[in-house]
Amino acid sequence: MNLEAVYLQMPTLAQNFVCNIMGWRIQRSRFGPSFLEQLRQVKKRAQWSTDRVLEFRDQRLRSFLVHCAETVPYYRRLFAEAGFQPERVRTLSDLAGLPVLTKAIVQGQDTELLSESIRPRERVPMHTSGTTGGGLRFAVTTAAVHEQWAVWSRYRQWHGLGQNTWQGYFAGRSVVPLAQKRPPYWRYNFPGRQILFSGYHMGPATLETYVSLLRQRQPPWLHGYPSLLALLAGYLDERRESLGYDLRWITTGAENLLPRQIDVIERTLGVRPIQHYGMAEAVANFSQCPRGKLHVDEDFAAVEFLPLPQGGYRVVGTNFSNLATPLVRYEVGDVVDWDAGDTCDCGLPGRIVRRVDGRQEDYVILRNGARLGRMDHVFKDMTAIREAQIVQEEPGQITVRVVKNPRYGSSDESQLLEEFQKRVGDQATIRVEYTERIPRTESGKLRFVISKVGKGQLVSAAPDAAAGRGNGST
Ligand SMILES: [Zn+2]
Repeated sequence: MNLEAVYLQMPTLAQNFVCNIMGWRIQRSRFGPSFLEQLRQVKKRAQWSTDRVLEFRDQRLRSFLVHCAETVPYYRRLFAEAGFQPERVRTLSDLAGLPVLTKAIVQGQDTELLSESIRPRERVPMHTSGTTGGGLRFAVTTAAVHEQWAVWSRYRQWHGLGQNTWQGYFAGRSVVPLAQKRPPYWRYNFPGRQILFSGYHMGPATLETYVSLLRQRQPPWLHGYPSLLALLAGYLDERRESLGYDLRWITTGAENLLPRQIDVIERTLGVRPIQHYGMAEAVANFSQCPRGKLHVDEDFAAVEFLPLPQGGYRVVGTNFSNLATPLVRYEVGDVVDWDAGDTCDCGLPGRIVRRVDGRQEDYVILRNGARLGRMDHVFKDMTAIREAQIVQEEPGQITVRVVKNPRYGSSDESQLLEEFQKRVGDQATIRVEYTERIPRTESGKLRFVISKVGKGQLVSAAPDAAAGRGNGST
């Protein structure tokens, strides 16, 4: 029996005790002694000009690549084969001679990718679930953990969020046993100042208890998956209620924040959600600034935007903060919209990302082979839909799973079909399927599009990254 199974069989009081111990340990590992020094450094770099930050990035990239060549077996071989000389790298475009590193390659190379210069006891194990292609295990260093949390704290501080602000946390962590049929559907983490809400128990029958606990405890900050925060907002919206206290911040992560979710969250909870983009692999990080634009954290990772034939850019990055498992030109699997000419007048450095268009699976294929992304816009004004998901079994066939709310009527279905027709014309057949609940992935995430069509996946448009990816059906 694993530790999680033991935890889930404990009484609530003991589970709260465990959450506090875990919370204390997490606080200690993330915000250890070197964290404050890292935070001081990253805040200083936020005052630099973009040119100066890019120079800093290129310098760091070069010495990181030398580190890879000297201490990592995988790169020693790769660089030799490619005739690549790391000490001659001047800027990002010099990496073009190296292949893109896929998750599948990393999964098969766990020891070859480890740096020999980091002793085994200095390696901190890290794992990430991801939505496609299974999980990933790799090692980081304590310094890398601290730097990542420093960059995330820097972004939070831009928005006035302090280290000790209480947070209502809505994500896929299984803190409450699934078999539990009565509240409390939450546990406490006092060291981390969190109320950990169970995402798995959120539904029409239980949300009332979530709302009354929020009203009672009044955490000024809500953080979590946008799909869960949108569920909470949608519940209040259906009842024409507000949260009824002074909520100050909503931040989201893990899933792509969709326009329809921003809309219902802002309208009902009275706060516009702010977002950052990052991942455990630390190969790219973008932070929303106070003006609402996404800045690339250039000092933290070397991010490349590789153009796709049908528009948009693949995110590929190098994690120079992590000396333990260097990832050079790692394909994240996300698509962004970006233009070199974009600027922001907030004074913070970094290239500007217009938007994160989607995780690689957010596309449907029409009969004529055309690929459509950003399907969420179909649902933008459909306020009688609680949640939706698009499933594609074959090109030109689209099944829309819909969870209705009580306001949903027959005109809503015709409106929905009409909105789809506008985008797909006669190139796809639409079928609406009503359901009580949309299943989540293993890590509790809601996937907006599930495509079982090979071409529905980003990787097919990028031949060098195609090998060994999952089939996109979790
Ligand atoms: Zn800005």
